[in-house]
Amino acid sequence: MNQDRIDALRAVPLAPFQHVINGCRVSASDAGVLPVVSPVNGTTITTMARGTRKDAISAIAAAREAFDNGCWSEMAPLARKKVLLKWAELIEANALELAVLGVRENGTEISMALKAEPMSAAATIRFYAEAIDKLFGEVAPTDPAFLGLVHREPAGVVGAIVPWNFPLMIGAWKIGPALAAGCTMVLKPAETASLSLVRLAELALDAGVPPGVFNVVTGEGHVVGAQIAESMDVDVLVFTGSGATGRRLLEAAAQSNMKRVYLELGGKSPNIVFADAPDLDEAAKVSAHGIFRNSGQVCIAGSRILVERRIHELFVEKLTAHAASIKVGDPLDVTTQSGAVNSERQLRQNLQFLEEARSLGRKVIGGQQILQESGGFYMAPAIVADTARDDRLFQEEVFGPVLAVTPFDSEEEAVKLANDTRYGLAAAVWTSNLSRAHRMVRKIRAGLVHINTYGGSDLTIPLGGVKQSGNGHDKSLHAFDKFLDLKTAWIKL
Ligand code: NAD
Repeated sequence: MNQDRIDALRAVPLAPFQHVINGCRVSASDAGVLPVVSPVNGTTITTMARGTRKDAISAIAAAREAFDNGCWSEMAPLARKKVLLKWAELIEANALELAVLGVRENGTEISMALKAEPMSAAATIRFYAEAIDKLFGEVAPTDPAFLGLVHREPAGVVGAIVPWNFPLMIGAWKIGPALAAGCTMVLKPAETASLSLVRLAELALDAGVPPGVFNVVTGEGHVVGAQIAESMDVDVLVFTGSGATGRRLLEAAAQSNMKRVYLELGGKSPNIVFADAPDLDEAAKVSAHGIFRNSGQVCIAGSRILVERRIHELFVEKLTAHAASIKVGDPLDVTTQSGAVNSERQLRQNLQFLEEARSLGRKVIGGQQILQESGGFYMAPAIVADTARDDRLFQEEVFGPVLAVTPFDSEEEAVKLANDTRYGLAAAVWTSNLSRAHRMVRKIRAGLVHINTYGGSDLTIPLGGVKQSGNGHDKSLHAFDKFLDLKTAWIKL
């Protein structure tokens, strides 16, 4: 990565961002705008359209028309694939520009953002594009007097509502399989991470995605997002974000057309370290990375370390050393390892969790706010070395660089503590005992269990939660299940 090029891109003045609806850039219907405040220095870098319900309705109408007229859903799979591959190529060609734009808005360190955002989005769109012409229907093994054909049909208009961490990566996890399946989409980005998704929609048009197939409406959740959730014309709703919003979306679906709702929600993922871990230094290093990268704003962050009591003190020392070595600061400096917290509100929330831990007498290491000359929202990684199971920090997602550590005495207790929250997104187990590793995979209630590693999985494996971490899966070929309906033809021969 070239620092000079990044510095040049960060200085580019940004024109106001508009919605992309039906192939056109359009302002909000009442021409309202929202300021885009950069967490890098706390200044307003541009504005974006403050979407209204009317804007969402017009985007949904465009997606409905594009779906119903068959311009995309009935396009030959090979032709659809060609357009999507072109889109992936354009994303890659503009990767650094997209990455810097995203970092200016959401504060993720560029050292991670380039790969995790545009490059990952391009790879995702390419992955699903390449799969389009490898999906077959079925011929059922029926009574020979009949023929049972099972078709897979695009499900229709998809509403996608996405969060502010990794907007391109998470957006592409929805966009890739939905558009490859032949669906059309209205996407609402988060208020603090919209710009790169608007740019993505502009590139889609350049690639030849027909007008109305992929629409982006920016604005507030309770306005634009709520309209999408309540719409009678949206067939499937896919969401990544908080449990509180997920609950509202389920209610809205129930009150409207009972659209299918797939939720990727939060987590409080346990990272369990046994004394027989193959390499404690490696476990501490990877575990620190597993919570502190992107300032802890990662859905699968290993935010609770459960550690066997006899190595508790030693392991906290190792974690502390790794946390202290993380370079926090300007996310557009290529050497930075942890960038800015997404917003001032999120920073206050993170610090509040630590204040509470201190008031309970817990041992809090690090976690101070870091004031930069340039302004912006920064904090040092924090470890709370003796978190108890009833602490809010043990039970609730912080979504910040705050690690709760809790000791355990037996495998049984580790399982109990691991499963003792309402979440079930990810987990990890560090052990040299193969049988124990497999036992733990079975007993931990989570969608993803790592063994002797944390994070870094690829596109071929599904990601989804159990319990209140959600339902349905992003990534892998299973993601198609959300966007393809099965239709049976039962034919008397
Ligand atoms: P959030 O729920 O506040 O917002 C997510 C999206 O929902 C935003 O676009 C927002 O504008 C919209 N929204 C808010 N209120 C709405 C309403 N009433 N109706 C419709 N839409 C509404 O979540 P967030 O703070 O942006 O994101 C952080 C959360 O996302 C964390 O809990 C994190 O764990 C979760 N997350 C989960 C995954 C996963 O794969 N499981 C991945 C990333 C983030």
